[in-house]
Amino acid sequence: MLGLMQSQPLLISSLIDFAERHHGEGEIVSRRVEGDIHRCTYRDIAGRSRQVANALDAMKLAFGDRVATLAWNGYRHLELYFGVSGSGRVLHTLNPRLHPDQIVWIANHSEDQVLCFDMTFLPIVKAVHARCTTIKHFIALCDAASLPADSGIPGLQSYEAWMGGQASKYTWPEFDENTASSMCYTSGTTGNPKAALYSHRSTILHAWASAMPDSLNMSARDSVLPVVPMFHVNAWGLPYSAAMTGAKMVFPGPAMDGKSIFDLIESEKVTFAAGVPTVWQMMLGHMQQGGLRFSTLKRTVIGGSACPPAMIAAFNDDYGVEVLHAWGMTEMSPLGTVCTLKNKHLAMDANQKMAVRIKQGRGIYGVDMKIIDEQGDELPWDGKAYGDLLVKGPWVIREYFKGEGGAPLVNGWFPTGDVATIDPDGYLQITDRSKDVIKSGGEWISSIDVENIAMAHPAVAMAACIGMKHPKWDERPVVVVVKKPGAEVSREELLGFFEGKTAKWQIPDDVIFIDAIPLGATGKMQKVKLRETLKDYQLPTA
Ligand code: ADP
Repeated sequence: MLGLMQSQPLLISSLIDFAERHHGEGEIVSRRVEGDIHRCTYRDIAGRSRQVANALDAMKLAFGDRVATLAWNGYRHLELYFGVSGSGRVLHTLNPRLHPDQIVWIANHSEDQVLCFDMTFLPIVKAVHARCTTIKHFIALCDAASLPADSGIPGLQSYEAWMGGQASKYTWPEFDENTASSMCYTSGTTGNPKAALYSHRSTILHAWASAMPDSLNMSARDSVLPVVPMFHVNAWGLPYSAAMTGAKMVFPGPAMDGKSIFDLIESEKVTFAAGVPTVWQMMLGHMQQGGLRFSTLKRTVIGGSACPPAMIAAFNDDYGVEVLHAWGMTEMSPLGTVCTLKNKHLAMDANQKMAVRIKQGRGIYGVDMKIIDEQGDELPWDGKAYGDLLVKGPWVIREYFKGEGGAPLVNGWFPTGDVATIDPDGYLQITDRSKDVIKSGGEWISSIDVENIAMAHPAVAMAACIGMKHPKWDERPVVVVVKKPGAEVSREELLGFFEGKTAKWQIPDDVIFIDAIPLGATGKMQKVKLRETLKDYQLPTA
């Protein structure tokens, strides 16, 4: 017997409809590329999202076509979030921090039809547009007056001219909730970049789960500042969960330095902020220098990399701000665990509480997780046994876009590439990473890519890239090199060899010459051993 309840697909358009109707005056504040502060409301965003939908229809863009963005966090980007997905197209948020060649590869792979970009990224678009073979429309996120006359980009239009003339009346289409809504490439693992292709259903369920009290605890009383970019897993889903709860949104635009972020928190009475540790490191530094205090900030979600205990302590003890340490992945929309205390922890002393808080947190309803040993057998949740971490749930990927990288699931579970313990209370702690990547300032560097570039140098016989702890960036890559017999190359020459071949921040900080790299029985480089050999190594300070 079926239940007799209404069946309604979970669609992203319903979020902006809800926000307009129930929180029409809710504020959306953006620091713009133009330098000023822009203010509007959910009502404005809803109307303009519908104008975007009409503009896409006018272009005869098909259902499911990809609309790419190269943009900071801001209200126009938010309008695209709702207008593109709401009308049945797929929003593809490109990462402007990648090398132009990677952007070209990704845009062609996803077959983007339209590219909307902030003027900051005009130089990137100039460099790539001729090679992005599927993009037919280029739209600069500015008004007509700010459009450069001689960009060299064919048919370039301003966003305001493109959507401004369209009606704000539009009936959102109804379709299957499993329809693709947005996509995000991750260059984390080896091989080509791979895209997580989110659906309307996965996005709404993720927003719902992440808004709950033991997740991000979002409400209409919050003023939310996503410092995490909208091109990083949809700013961890915050644009959706904010619309779902009617929270005020505050967007930092391109200004991510400590002072700009702090000033925005104070001026917009931000109660809840989200970002990677590097961002908070810069902001805390700015605050400590100036003896500054927060007047409204209550909590901050920190993830993307392990949050250092000192940062949790600084927020908590010095500033009275609760840190929600969270763990997730692009492949998980991204939220998997959030560290909030249970009743039993409340009576504990500060040190005991800290021991819980430094963990990555408890699974939220919807995400199931397990740790396994080398044979694939499940390990106990005793807080000691560590193994490969696998997850499953309705906002975890089943496979990558276009089947890239083959079938990722193992008996229905997604292997995260992280190594973890889980304690009897269900708190996850990431202890290591089995995937061969380095995370610097919240962005991935593939060790294989670094090694391949080094190996292309005629004097290099073998190269191994490993991550070294860094106080600001969390990790920085160094490349360990074995020279070919009789060949010579200096550190400076080899570092120079990387120039132009990869994004600047992906170039290793140092080259370490060594006689031999330890190899395993199958000839694989043994990086664990290599790391042990280099345990006293110090990164260059400059
Ligand atoms: P995001 O950084 O937005 O969470 P990515 O897909 O770029 O998503 O990175 C996911 C990976 O980042 C995880 O598999 C893990 O290796 C690492 N990571 C994310 N959050 C944490 C955390 N809190 N502690 C340690 N590592 C983390």
